[in-house]
Amino acid sequence: MTKVPELFGSMVFGERVMRERLPKDIFKALQNTIKSGNPISSEVADVVANAMKDWAIEKGATHYTHWFQPMTGVTAEKHDSFIQPADGGSVIMNFSGKQLIKGEPDASSFPSGGLRSTFEARGYTAWDPTSYAFVKDSVLYIPTAFISFSGQVLDKKTPLLRSMDTLSKAALRVLKLFGKKPCRVTPSVGPEQEYFLIPRELYKKRPDLIITGRTLFGAKPPKGQELDDHYFGHIKTRVLEYMEDLDTELWKLGIYAKTRHNEVAPAQHELAPIYSTVNIATDHNQLTMAVMRKVAKKHDLVCLLHEKPFAGVNGSGKHNNWSISTSDGENLLEPGKDLKNNLQFMLFLTAIIKAVDEHQDLLRLSVASAGNDHRLGANEAPPAIISMFLGDEITDLLETLASGKEYSNHVGNKLSTGVESVPVIYEDTTDRNRTSPFAFTGNKFEFRSLGSALNIACPNIMINAAVADALNAFADVLEKEKAADFKKAAIELIKKEYVAHRRIVFNGDNYAEAWREEAEKRGLLNLKSTPEALSYYDRPENVELFKRLKIYTDEEVRARKDILLENYCKVINIEALTMCEIALKQILPAATQFTTMLAENIINLKSLGMETTAQKDILENVSKLITAAYGAQQRLSDVQLAVKNESDLQTEANLCYSQVFAAMQELRTFCDRLETLLPKNMWPFPTYGDLLLYV
Ligand code: ADP
Ligand code: MG
Repeated sequence: MTKVPELFGSMVFGERVMRERLPKDIFKALQNTIKSGNPISSEVADVVANAMKDWAIEKGATHYTHWFQPMTGVTAEKHDSFIQPADGGSVIMNFSGKQLIKGEPDASSFPSGGLRSTFEARGYTAWDPTSYAFVKDSVLYIPTAFISFSGQVLDKKTPLLRSMDTLSKAALRVLKLFGKKPCRVTPSVGPEQEYFLIPRELYKKRPDLIITGRTLFGAKPPKGQELDDHYFGHIKTRVLEYMEDLDTELWKLGIYAKTRHNEVAPAQHELAPIYSTVNIATDHNQLTMAVMRKVAKKHDLVCLLHEKPFAGVNGSGKHNNWSISTSDGENLLEPGKDLKNNLQFMLFLTAIIKAVDEHQDLLRLSVASAGNDHRLGANEAPPAIISMFLGDEITDLLETLASGKEYSNHVGNKLSTGVESVPVIYEDTTDRNRTSPFAFTGNKFEFRSLGSALNIACPNIMINAAVADALNAFADVLEKEKAADFKKAAIELIKKEYVAHRRIVFNGDNYAEAWREEAEKRGLLNLKSTPEALSYYDRPENVELFKRLKIYTDEEVRARKDILLENYCKVINIEALTMCEIALKQILPAATQFTTMLAENIINLKSLGMETTAQKDILENVSKLITAAYGAQQRLSDVQLAVKNESDLQTEANLCYSQVFAAMQELRTFCDRLETLLPKNMWPFPTYGDLLLYV
């Protein structure tokens, strides 16, 4: 095996390659663009394109693609070869600066939420030089943003970049009050990715997995996760070989794959990278998911990234570890040691408390999807209620501050002693609470509500936006203060804002029923389903927020909401149709066959004068279930059709949840019971036990 440092980034047109291959002035100009976002000239682009092409061809590339992240949730690519006709019927390999900077994919089939009318179907892709190009499968991938010709954003990347800018500006305003002037503040993210691995030959026999990514039927296996023996357990050889291969492929692409382990459910695993700047982390996470799927194929496995592939065992999430740091290398979420720094930390922390409380709806809806609805609220992922875990030490400190009176005498002291001890004491409490949706874990916040399949752009846009808004509000107040009064004013502000938003802080067990009641008393939102969560997207205050922060226009917000609602309806519809088909064409015929077998058996036994009670009993149960399942299938089919005719999108989505999804559950219950009664060789597809326990 090649040494890892040599392997790492070998397929990436990164800084090292650029330095080697670009003339000094061009290298400098490009670095300038990457670091400060200045536009690039066409001369520079031409030279970069040519060097990129030569490098890519050496790495085996024949094609290039503008790689983008439309609102489908997956990435999109269209390959163009480098060939250009030359004299005598030959070709040369060519790639210009123009082709590097801008592409014009025929984008009419990507969801735009009505932003792109058909007569103006074109969109264009624009090179994002801050995320490096790479070669994969003989193609040069160029990360890009995707925009309509009239300038509206059609992707997830552009608003993410905008939210990063907005956050940076807001944070710089606050830092300036502390006499600090870094060039930029950047959010970093480390997304922990969970997934399932199952044997490919069994997967192929499950139409539900193939069509919808999750099992729509399946009785619980005799052994699930109850023994807790899988989490961090010994990794089986076949899985380990997969993980080794996966790490190698990711390292080649410059992805910092770091940690791998078994997860709670059987056949479930996790991969965590070392954190990076959020737009790069987003690209890398999308790539990681693609590579996970591809490498699985090589090992005759299938990698399931669905949030809930199997009922009754844990689903898969994606923990989004988020922090902000300055271009001078200071992590703003690192609790400091001296009071001045502590004040800065407490101010940023309080801004985040305000942000999460004021924008619970945005955080919740940023993780909403049909698949993730199965997790949030079940006792395996954080609940649909957004709250924050700060740990006892920080909470005590804020509470002491908030308790007013003592402040002038003692709190100053307490603040210094209290905060001084924060980093030390906090280490211990860091990981105690695994149930909180938004937990402070020492020097970062871990947003744990994301489903495994999600593109992390949206939740990070929301966090960046919410925090930027709170920081701006703080700066508005504090910039008015005289320097001499700054410290006092800042402490007053922390106090006031903490008191206003302390309801969002909850350090207890988020799974407990008591929390649901308590949260309701506190007036926190509990948006249980995707349609309900999405209905908050275009509330006037949210539209105002996005406009104010220059992340989305009115139309862009509404378009995004519509796309997500539509996607939800489509997913539920596809699942409903797939269920009906499997029930009618596979499960009911198999069950009927079994009843025929039983009936014949009973007649035969009777003719011999033998006992038939057990057989009759089974026959009766199976027959009853066939009737019940058939009835449920008919009802599902009826409601699915009725709901599909609904003209209002929000209403349709609401009904998909309250009626179609409910009817699906009913059908499943009867079919799963049939599974427990039918002989193994008569059941038409592999069971949970087959899928989960034999990798
Ligand atoms: P756990 O499983 O306990 O949550 P892991 O070590 O598996 O912890 O994952 C932690 C993730 O957080 C990793 O991706 C890590 O790189 C990331 N991380 C660590 N420090 C920071 C930080 N300051 N900002 C953002 N992410 C961070
Ligand atoms: Mg974690």
